[in-house]
Amino acid sequence: MTSPAENSTEQPKTLDTDITAAVQGQLPSTIADLSRLVRIPSVSWAAFDPSHVRASAEAVAALAEETGLFESVAIKQAAIDDTQELGQPAVIARRAARNGAPTVLLYAHHDVQPPGKDEDWDSHPFEPTVRGDRIYGRGAADDKAGVMAHIASLRALKDVLGADFDLGLALFIEGEEEFGSRSFANFLVENKDALAADAIIVADSNNWDEVTPAITVGLRGNVTFRLTVRTLEHASHSGMFGGAVPDAMLATIRLLNSFWDEAGSVAVNGLTSYDGQTPDYSEEQLRSETGLLPGVSPLGTGSFLSRIWNQPSITVTGIDAPSVASASNTLSPAVSVKVSVRIAPGQDATDAASALRAHVASNTPFGAEVVIDDLDLGNPFLVDTSGPAFGEAKRAMKDAWGVDAVELGVGGSIPFIADLVRVFPSAEILVTGVEDPHSRAHSPNESLHLGVFARSVLSEALLLARLNATAR
Ligand SMILES: [Zn+2]
Repeated sequence: MTSPAENSTEQPKTLDTDITAAVQGQLPSTIADLSRLVRIPSVSWAAFDPSHVRASAEAVAALAEETGLFESVAIKQAAIDDTQELGQPAVIARRAARNGAPTVLLYAHHDVQPPGKDEDWDSHPFEPTVRGDRIYGRGAADDKAGVMAHIASLRALKDVLGADFDLGLALFIEGEEEFGSRSFANFLVENKDALAADAIIVADSNNWDEVTPAITVGLRGNVTFRLTVRTLEHASHSGMFGGAVPDAMLATIRLLNSFWDEAGSVAVNGLTSYDGQTPDYSEEQLRSETGLLPGVSPLGTGSFLSRIWNQPSITVTGIDAPSVASASNTLSPAVSVKVSVRIAPGQDATDAASALRAHVASNTPFGAEVVIDDLDLGNPFLVDTSGPAFGEAKRAMKDAWGVDAVELGVGGSIPFIADLVRVFPSAEILVTGVEDPHSRAHSPNESLHLGVFARSVLSEALLLARLNATAR
């Protein structure tokens, strides 16, 4: 006796074979189109020329149009928060579902991080270059490869099924993910009907390694702020008064030190951890992936991945104080630091911010004056893994890669996912991606592994073809 599950994989064997052949056959043109997108320096940060982001949106819209699958393709902007200022241009496209088929929203972003210094790159950041089995360039992985994974899956679908299939599609390619998705919430509300879907594929995350796929099920949130500590009305000579009055640097060091315990774990009351399983990950792996120096020990307690995925962490990412070059024998009156806190899945970002404020208030030494401002909050996220599309996605990954997908936690944040869940509470969220641990997104020499990319496209194409087959 065959179970229904076995039946459903038996019958569309030719569908799988045809989709696989289509994805393979189109790979050279997919890489060529990816390279064209990478050559557009679409940095979305305020200090960069917005005409490149516009050009990038136009290139993506043309790719969507050329699939011949959408009833509408448009470039749109929405206002940032409650200002009149418009966010960066996004591409939005839609095709209606037929015969009871589901609708899938495909998300990626076409903007990129600034490249940093050209000399830190082995080839020019905006000239895509293949070395070995990787293609290098800013955005080659994050997230222009995500854009092309969607486009390539759609092309394969059309090749095999023609343009007349039942699956409904929405495409949303954002233009300011790397600059805080500041108009995202407004964009969702204004385009709610055009974006509505039963499942959302967010192609902007990581795989376990070059040969093992992953689907992201947990994301930490973030609380970042500027902390300014003042102890003196003005600077004084450290030889005249040092030892009798505290300078702001001393007060700042004492205060910051209270954030961690002896082991380096976060020691802030009210910041919670999430109790979840983590796959094996050795100290050796951690050392090689982070470049931890031989005599330096790791931080924290618990499995390494639980420290990164399920526990909070605090990093001081910047400091405004006299530089070493301009240091004189002076007691500093004020010091500012930027504090970046990652919060565990399950905790509300507003609650975490309150806990941090309370901690700062009760651990400030010498009665120093402290101001917290520039507060930025992002909620963590836990994926509901019980829905049918989640199961289909994992099956498609297994068939495309030949091994089971790892259910991945991510130490960083994708705050817009919380917005997606809020606006589309009934949609299943599938966080996939084209990156691997060596992709170095946001860093010099960012790259995409071409084998990972091919397998990621195949997984998505198989998933879409199978969801289409659930019509009627
Ligand atoms: Zn990204």
